[in-house]
This record gives sequence, structure tokens and C-alpha cells, in this order.
Amino acid sequence: MATPSASTPFRIVHTVCSHDCPDSCAVLVTVDAEGRAVKVAGDPSHPVTQGFLCGKVAKYLDRVYSPQRILHPLRRKPGVPKGPLEKGRELESFEQISWDQAIAAIASRLQQISDAHGPESILPYSYAGTIGVLGYGSMDRRFFHRLGASQLDRTICAEAGGQAWKLVYGKKLGTPNEDFPKAKLIVAWGANIHGNNVHLWPFVEQARRNGARFIVIDPYRTRTAALADWHIAIRPGTDSALALGLMHVILREGLEDRAYIAEMTHGFEQLAERVREYTPEHVAAWTGLTAAEIEQLAREYATTQPAVLRMNYGVQRSQNGGTAVRAIAMLPALTGAWRHQGGGAQLSMSGAFKFDSQAVERPDLMLQSPLGRPARVVNMSRLGHALTELGSQPGEGPRVHAILVYNSNAVAVAPNQNTVRRGFERPDLFTVVHEQFLTDTTDYADYILPATTFLEHDDIQGAYGHYFVQRSHQAIQPLGEARSNVWLFSQLARRMGFQERCFQDTPEEIIRQALRPGESGHSRNPGMEHITAALLDEQGHIPLHFPEAGKHFLPFSRPEPLPTPSGKIEFYSEALAASGEDALPAFVAPEESRLGPYAVRYPLEFLPRKADNYMNSTFANLEGHRRMEAKTNHRLEIHPTDATARNIADGDQVRIWNDRGTLELTALISDRVPAGVVAGRLDWAKLSPGGRNINALTSERLTDIGRGATFYSTLVEVARA
Ligand code: SF4
Repeated sequence: MATPSASTPFRIVHTVCSHDCPDSCAVLVTVDAEGRAVKVAGDPSHPVTQGFLCGKVAKYLDRVYSPQRILHPLRRKPGVPKGPLEKGRELESFEQISWDQAIAAIASRLQQISDAHGPESILPYSYAGTIGVLGYGSMDRRFFHRLGASQLDRTICAEAGGQAWKLVYGKKLGTPNEDFPKAKLIVAWGANIHGNNVHLWPFVEQARRNGARFIVIDPYRTRTAALADWHIAIRPGTDSALALGLMHVILREGLEDRAYIAEMTHGFEQLAERVREYTPEHVAAWTGLTAAEIEQLAREYATTQPAVLRMNYGVQRSQNGGTAVRAIAMLPALTGAWRHQGGGAQLSMSGAFKFDSQAVERPDLMLQSPLGRPARVVNMSRLGHALTELGSQPGEGPRVHAILVYNSNAVAVAPNQNTVRRGFERPDLFTVVHEQFLTDTTDYADYILPATTFLEHDDIQGAYGHYFVQRSHQAIQPLGEARSNVWLFSQLARRMGFQERCFQDTPEEIIRQALRPGESGHSRNPGMEHITAALLDEQGHIPLHFPEAGKHFLPFSRPEPLPTPSGKIEFYSEALAASGEDALPAFVAPEESRLGPYAVRYPLEFLPRKADNYMNSTFANLEGHRRMEAKTNHRLEIHPTDATARNIADGDQVRIWNDRGTLELTALISDRVPAGVVAGRLDWAKLSPGGRNINALTSERLTDIGRGATFYSTLVEVARA
């Protein structure tokens, strides 16, 4: 949608912020007569965006037109070893080449590697650097499927929580943002709404103006927690214990909704039996709260209606994080909160969007690959292991000999950074990185390919924090020779001789394929039948439909068959029982926690936090954004009690270490962390002291459900440097 004005030479183009954020904002880009974007603004007609952007994206043009953008394909100069390069001097190690040279050389090398070691020795590595349907996973998936490359298990962010939620409800739906103002109690559980889900905040404020109470459960006093009526500073990794303790009190005091439970749920009796042992006294000992606080929270939650829980993905980044999400997700089913407009819970609404992923990603192409079968699956949360050890045991398949990284700054964000680096340093590993900037990961690349931002390509997008499908129109020509993921993988496919017609699809064709269920008019895609590419072109964003004649959409409020084995909300999982696992949630302390076996050696729980003004590692290289995070740049936050015990003063240089690595940061004595917990913030390694970031300390241990990363189950010791 581009709207030229009659009186000015400017065009307004409807785009969508594709950064990894629940809000998926509708962004209006003003483009001048020369084709240059001169303004970005939130679309006032989008009911969730409401005309404003977060601080990260409000100054997006600084990023798009940054002089640091990579604008041409680059090849590592002969003889330059892989490894950290000095910030600002990286280009000395590379030479500019044409796209044609780059595509030809990469295709030829991939073919050689595939012939010599099998196609599974090639690994794609990508995540949510862009969450548009095309940019996140379309032509790239087709390419790797047809090639026979290893499949990537994309677990690093949301898989533990997503699978846990689905164990209970079968599908990822949640309370609509627009209903939050009706809530009388809002509990943000591990959710820094003000920091990274800011378009929910106006609805929270409206609810508070209407008299709602706002409670935050978070080990760290985020800026959201600082604004709460009650901040509950729970110990990391004990959320499942608290949820089970709340259930104990709710059932002990008869505060559950028996009618809802009888009509909508499965396994209540077994759950009731299980939570008997989770007395407030037991739970207090694990969580660091008092028994009275646990009882108060349970009573407030169960007796205030509508009550809504906003969880975010921080909760599930502990070793027991899947169970934590599963247990928390059961709470509104116990109290019947789903019945009330403004009640229920939100983790992710992504399950509402049924784009035709079979058509977009073409997994059937795996059968056309030289393997003739689905390729092995490699877990991205164990990248270090994948690059250093995978392939050394019988039955694992080949070593990884090539990695193509896109939509991710892998070296900065993957856990166990020192092992990840060792992997990338391998001289025999062929590394291609498609990127917008020179990052920690491009330091290891054989080829760096310039990537577009969301202003420079077409896409379509759902959201995990609202119910609108949106069209992102290309607003400006790509800068320099930057190219989209769709273009890159289509070119590689052609150069490798893949004949399938799908490799010639244009972005518009893929968009139509993604929407095909709607366009063909049948109901494979309930909620999206009315959405066509043409309508989206015209309107920019269209809400999903949840037709139930005359009734407001209240997820999980009325009996309907759910995609769980019992067809109901599951407190008890027969599926888990059948696979020999505990069918009910239970609190098991993370191995790396104060309750685990390693605490004797490493007594402090480490929170590797995300910055409010970055998006994971994105934006961390931009001066304006760094200034907004200046308070905690290169700082380790430590509670006064722990600092005193170690003779550490504010501003001292401190060493933080465990068996995996060491960091040197500056102490920031702070009561934003509770005693026994220290916090550091994700940054680029090359912008951090010693060229290491917080992931030098994190492990490749996986979550109990969903095989996800366990960043928040990390123990360390700290001393003055
Ligand atoms: S990062 Fe989130 S809040 Fe900011 S503009 Fe993008 S979608 Fe909106």
C-alpha cells in the first residue's frame, strides 16, 4: 500500500516491523521523491500499534542508512585466519566481489562438500532476525530441503514454552490485548511488558485506571516490575514451584471453578493429588518468598475476576522451564479465568495464524534431495556441540563442514560461546553469513553477503502478540547490493541446478501461496478465509476472524474439541505418561541453581538479561541505542550482600567465571537483583571487554520440554579482578 499525496512528492508505505517482538507493529514509512525513507511511524489505524513505535525502532532510519551497513558481497582474503577482528577494521580482512562471483563460488563449494561428505554435512543456522513469513523461512527452507542439508531444530527461543503450552491447550492462543482493559488483576510473569512488549502497556494502563491491580513476578526488577503494585522477586528457576504452590492454596481453600474444570479439563483429580505436597512452606523455601506471600498471591489471583496472566519467554529459559510454563498455563484453567472477558492468559498467539507452511517451505523437496529422505535434525541450542563434536559418534551422520548463517548473530547469541567459537574457527568449516552489519559471526565468515532490512523487501506477517495478518510492502530500493533471503536462496538454487519451478517464485507468488487456504475459499485455515493478498495489499492489516455468532472471542471459554489427546485442557498428560515421563508438573530444581549440586563451587545464579533497547543482539552496534543502555553497558549487577561478602565496591572490576568461561565486567551494586543472583546484559562479544559476552558462561544443557536453551540456569562465582 503506497499512498502518494496530491500535494507533496512523498509516498506513505505500509510495512511491518519484522523484529522478534510480540507486537509486530504496523509501520508507515514516508518515502521522498528520490526514493529515500525520511520517516518511520506507527500506524494509528492499527488497534494494537496505536500510532507509536518502541524506542528501538522509532529511530530505525539510523539503522537502515547506517554507514556501517554491509552493502556488497565480501570474500575473506587468502590466508586471513578466522577469529575476532577489531571493530571498525574488519573490512581489511575481506575483499569486495560481485554477487555473481559469490553465488558461483558458494554453490560450487557446497556441491563439493555435499559430494565429499554428504549433504547433511551442510547446516543452515537461522532464527528470528526477521519474523516475516518470507524472511523467516520460505525460499531458504526450500533450498535446504532440496539440497538434503541437515534440518535445524529452531529451539533457541520459544520451543520449550510453546510445547509446554500445547501440552495443556493443544494450540497457542491467548487473551486478546484489546480485552486487557477489562481485567481487574494483571500478573506479568517473567514478562517485561514495558521493555519488550510495549504495545500491551497502554491496555495495562487502561486496566489500572479502571482499578486493576498489577503484579510482576520476576527475579530482576525490570522497568515493568518497578511500575508494579507488587513486585515478587522470585528466585530463578523456581516458577514451577510457585505455580504448584498457588494451586495448592487455591484447592485447599476451595477457590477453583468446579463447573469449568468439569466441563473443560482432563486430569483434575490427579493434579489435585499432586499439588498436595506443594505447601506454602515448602514452596517458600524454594522460591525465596514467604508462605504468607504465596497465600496472598493465590487468594488474590483466584478471587479476582477477570484475572489475566501475561507470561513471556524468559520463564522457559531454565532447565525446568517447560514445566514452569506448563504449570503456570494451568492456573487460568483451575480458576475458570478464561470465561471472563479480560481474563485468561497470554504467552503466544502464533497458533492462530495458519499460513500454508507446506507450500511456503516445501518439506516434500527433501524427498528430491540426494538423500531421498528427511535429513537429520540438529538442535540450534547446541551449536557448539554441532560444530565441534557432532559426527564423531556412530549413527550421528557426518561432521558439519559448511554452515550458512542468516537472521542470526550466532556467535553472540548461542550458548556456550567459547565452544561455539572453537567450532567456527575450524579452518575446514566453510562459513557463509548473510547479514546487515559486520557482527561477531561475520568475523568467522568465508563469504559475507549483504542483507536487506524490512524496508527493502516484501513480506507478510502474523504476530505472537496480536491477531492481525499484515502486508509489509517494500518501501525503498535495497541499499547498495543488499538482497533478501528469498532472492539469495533462489539464486543459489538455480546455480546448483535445482529445476523445480518453486525456485523461481517471486515474493508476491509466495505470499499468495502462504494465503492459499483463504484464497481458495475452503476452510483449511479457520480465521483466515477472508484474507486475500489483494485485500492485504489494499488494507495493510486485517484481523483474524473467530466466528461464533454473536459472541465475543474468548479463547478456551466454551467447550470445543481441542487438539490435545483428550480433546480437553490437560492437567494430566497421557501422552507424557506413555513416553515414560511424569504426566503431571513437578518442581525439579535446575542442576545449575542454588538448590543444585554445583552451587557449592559456583554459588551465584547468573541472569544473562536482554536489553530493553536492543532486540537480542540486534541494535547493539548502534551508538544511539548503546547510549540508551549506558547504565548497564559492561556491568555486572550484584546485590549489596553478595558484594560485601566478596569485598567488592561499586565500580570495581570483577571477574565472573564458571567451568565454561570467564568475563571481566564492572560491578554495579544494585538491589534490582535479589541476594544470590547477579545479572549481566547481552551485548556483542566484540563490543565487550575481553571480546567475550555473557554466553561465555551459559551452557548447552537443554530444557525439560522442547529441547530449548537454558540461559537462565547458569551458576557463577564472582571476585574482584
Ligand atoms: S520492536 Fe516491537 S515494539 Fe518495536 S516497533 Fe518492532 S514490533 Fe513494535
